[in-house]
Amino acid sequence: MPIKLVVFDVDETIWRVSVTYTSFLKPPLRIIGTSELCDSVGARVKLFSGVREVLKGLQEKGVLMSIASLNDPEPDMVAECLKLFGISDYFIYPQVNHKGKNRNIKTILKLLKEKEAIEISYPEIIFVDDQELNTRSVMKGCPGIKAVNLGSDINNITQVLNLL
Ligand SMILES: [Mg+2]
Repeated sequence: MPIKLVVFDVDETIWRVSVTYTSFLKPPLRIIGTSELCDSVGARVKLFSGVREVLKGLQEKGVLMSIASLNDPEPDMVAECLKLFGISDYFIYPQVNHKGKNRNIKTILKLLKEKEAIEISYPEIIFVDDQELNTRSVMKGCPGIKAVNLGSDINNITQVLNLL
């Protein structure tokens, strides 16, 4: 089945954050390079190389992209970082909360169906996460989904493009 949607984890999947969780950043944030930003006390976020290439590649192929991130929804520091890096427009209905990745994916599918009239089934989705616990749980909760562990299944985010 052709892939229609790629759902990304954020922390340690699309960027590295020096304080473990993006929620731990202390605003205001400021950009200090095309792919790096820092918070008010010097903590840093570095967008992994290849991320922009992957997002652009997926967009060119008409594949939708979203986010399932375990971080505080308020204030949404993930949204803030995406905006500063200039990549927020790539993501449709990003989920940033503590509800768990399975629920996040189901919410994204529900919103796509209700608001965009786009129906996507699990085998048409790739989920990318650096934590095996998350990829395993999503494989169980969303049968047929292609849950990809960054670190063991692939070692560079750009390899997502080879999985379409
Ligand atoms: Mg992660």
